[in-house]
Amino acid sequence: MSLVNFTINGISMQAEPGATILECAKSAGIHIPTLCHLNLHDTKMVNQVGTCRVCMVEVEGRRNLAPACNTAVAEGMAVRTDSVKAIKARRKVVELLLSNHPKDCLVCARNQNCELQSLAAELSIRRVRYDGKRNNFPWDTSSYSLVRDPNKCVLCRRCETMCNKVQSVGVYSAVNRGFETVIGTAFDEPMLDTVCTFCGQCVSVCPTGALTQVDNTWAVWDAINNPDKFVIVQTAPAVRAALGEEFGMPVGSLVTGKMASALRLLGFDKVYDTDFAADLTIMEEAHEFIERVKNGGTLPILTSCCPAWVKFIEHQFPELLDIPSTCKSPHEMFGAVAKTHLAGKLGVDPANMVVVSVMPCLAKKYEASRPELALESSPYVDYVITTRELGAMIREAGVRFASLPDGEFDSAMGESTGASVIFGATGGVIEAALRTAYAWLTGEKPADVEFTALRGIKGIKEATYNIAGTDFKIAVASGLGNARELLERVRDNPDEYHAIEIMACPGGCVSGGGQPYHGNDPETYAKRAEAIYSEDRAKALRYSHENPEVIALYEEFLGEPGSHRAHELLHTEYTKRTV
Ligand code: SF4
Ligand code: SF4
Ligand code: SF4
Repeated sequence: MSLVNFTINGISMQAEPGATILECAKSAGIHIPTLCHLNLHDTKMVNQVGTCRVCMVEVEGRRNLAPACNTAVAEGMAVRTDSVKAIKARRKVVELLLSNHPKDCLVCARNQNCELQSLAAELSIRRVRYDGKRNNFPWDTSSYSLVRDPNKCVLCRRCETMCNKVQSVGVYSAVNRGFETVIGTAFDEPMLDTVCTFCGQCVSVCPTGALTQVDNTWAVWDAINNPDKFVIVQTAPAVRAALGEEFGMPVGSLVTGKMASALRLLGFDKVYDTDFAADLTIMEEAHEFIERVKNGGTLPILTSCCPAWVKFIEHQFPELLDIPSTCKSPHEMFGAVAKTHLAGKLGVDPANMVVVSVMPCLAKKYEASRPELALESSPYVDYVITTRELGAMIREAGVRFASLPDGEFDSAMGESTGASVIFGATGGVIEAALRTAYAWLTGEKPADVEFTALRGIKGIKEATYNIAGTDFKIAVASGLGNARELLERVRDNPDEYHAIEIMACPGGCVSGGGQPYHGNDPETYAKRAEAIYSEDRAKALRYSHENPEVIALYEEFLGEPGSHRAHELLHTEYTKRTV
């Protein structure tokens, strides 16, 4: 196929036919501002609806400007991205977007982290010449996870592409007409009454404050400052690989020790690690897997750590609800053990214990509200805050995060192995389970502790491992669209796989809906995942069943994996649901 010859800003270039002006400019290091445009993961899916017109460029010989995002380069084309006409057009477009925008940037959740605000700054917009009709839509605060403020919607449709195409959930579409058009739910249903999984990926890609997380930081501050409460905190594996970005540290910085120090400075009574509970999860999940294999139970077993994925299967594949593992997610296992065994050990009345989870995830906010995850109607996990919310709390407290010394987690529920930290990246949960399952089935460790074929951000991965003479076929999916594809395969051919890991967020929890905004950049996911794998490699213990605090918990309290008490506290059930 012959290449197309063209120029951008006088620079001669060549590209494959079909390449857009935006792609070619980017590869040549020429910046063209965008707003609605978004690359989506490894799917080659792109939101280039061209609605915002911010990326207008001048093409020699054409009277009208062209949107760079969906105009293909052509033989002999001469493009100017920097002409006065193009710059003026972009400014006009952004002024029109601002003409009906609330412009309450000072108190907006996206202040200093908003693509519309950055665009206005980049284009030096100092006043808005147009006065558009302002809407006064009510906010949707119905859910535990995310807040919709339709007044800030710029109709970029990124959320719609993410939810409907990448996640295959289909919550969003355009509603109303004319100036009142917004991207919202069908029949304007409250989010809580939809099939939303609360994965938060629409929040991750929304460029403005139209979609944000539910903020639990003030509830946590109140608990910390209540002398009658004993407030403990746990932090998920993926948080340590991204929290540094909240303080200007490079993507991929591992800040485990600084995070522990910061949490102590915030005033938590004890600082624990969800990684401990991830090791506990593997004890139960590997045991459940081996029991199913030995006793002819239902296979494949599906991991169940991701509450968005769990809600997805409850809505979309109720006929398959007998195949997920019954294990609770690690932070819920932590909460259950904390309010029973740990409270007793510490001499704390469980009614006065407050469990706070720091998660990369918006779905875990919703998960904590599930009625079955409660001790006598009091939730095992009281509050979930995201990596972004923890960043905000650290800033509010005036803590200089980057210069903090490395701290430690508290013992009893703070020790962890390398197997637990890899939960944060796609493929990590099943890899951790395989490490222990291999050791338990064969009585020895695998030649290589790393099951690398299950790693990487590819949407669906497969590998076969021979363990104790049996070939086990394993699959991993991240992103709910990929999960749907895999589940359809399972429904059509139930004998194909032995075990499957599914995570709702493309790339796994490192790219969760509560992580620092990452512009949907696969390189960001890869660097965060590498930070996690480096922590695994640095650990003395890399098998969950070797965690001494987990072993002690079974000896002192739980008995054996799969015991009656373990089932009561660490396992759960699933429900077919319409909302
Ligand atoms: S809610 Fe956000 S992502 Fe969705 S269309 Fe509006 S501005 Fe875009
Ligand atoms: S949270 Fe996830 S499932 Fe819910 S609307 Fe957003 S993208 Fe769709
Ligand atoms: S993949 Fe992780 S961050 Fe995303 S919804 Fe699931 S548990 Fe939450």
